[in-house]
Amino acid sequence: MATNPNPKRISTAMWDRLIVPCCNLTTTVAMKDEQAGVWVRQPGSHADATWLLANRPNDYSLQGPKQRVFTPEQGRYGRAWDWGFPSAWSGDWSQIGIYSLRIKAAWETNDPRTYMLFEVLCQTPEDRQPEGYVFYPVKKFRVPDRSHETHMHIGVLTVYCNDPVAMADLFSLLSGEPLATWRARRNSLEDDMAPLLFFAKLAGNDTVHLVDNFMTNRWVTGAGFPVLKQALTSNGLGTTIWEWPNDAAHKELLGVNLDRLDDDPAPLLATLTADQLLELGLRIREGVPSLEQIRAVVDEEATSPEELAQVANPGA
Ligand SMILES: [Zn+2]
Repeated sequence: MATNPNPKRISTAMWDRLIVPCCNLTTTVAMKDEQAGVWVRQPGSHADATWLLANRPNDYSLQGPKQRVFTPEQGRYGRAWDWGFPSAWSGDWSQIGIYSLRIKAAWETNDPRTYMLFEVLCQTPEDRQPEGYVFYPVKKFRVPDRSHETHMHIGVLTVYCNDPVAMADLFSLLSGEPLATWRARRNSLEDDMAPLLFFAKLAGNDTVHLVDNFMTNRWVTGAGFPVLKQALTSNGLGTTIWEWPNDAAHKELLGVNLDRLDDDPAPLLATLTADQLLELGLRIREGVPSLEQIRAVVDEEATSPEELAQVANPGA
């Protein structure tokens, strides 16, 4: 793999998961002609957010919390990659058009793999005018300058500029991976590896949050949940349990911080259809536990799935 020329200013995630794989899609062209740059201290999203916020606080690439509120690490890196297409230098837009049309389709259909994007300036092949697809903070179309006839400017949000999962998801989109394939891959990964957050809403009058800290402290998350679920569902009162990956994207998506027990996502969740929940990577598990049952489990100070199994099946 080609070596990252500036690891201080081009994140490892962007280099390894986006730039190199994208350049590998067009193997007949030298990478130096395709890797047209990331970090420059100038207006716009090629600049690192720390410098930009200090020097141009009203810059258009600092609008909205995902651009403006960031960790020192996220603030170090360039937030846009210019993908050059030598084939377009002579007016042949067939190759830049492949990837530009994928961005256009994703923008038009709200493809979930666009969550990390700020804007993409590019060239779809049907006319000479370049296209600008803006994703954040509001979705809109604009016409960028003529330099984008020959390169795609791929701007990501500050909070994702060093996120390897986000960069891999963006590559999935650019490489033309079918959405269903990506979703299946993501789901199986999450099943195997990702910590989950759980939230249970009792059908009656109370709400119980089961957050990951609690899970991590008392159960192995992946292995413990089926046992917990069994305990929760072994009683006759109605409850719905939602679960979703415990990652920054989902916290942001839901607008809640479940590390705080008083931050209640139930009103929002209740407005979503099953399809929308699926789209957002949330899953519903229908169960029939009671508040007492849950509290009994929670208060047991159980430390292992085996102990939980005892709670679930006292006679076993
Ligand atoms: Zn650019």
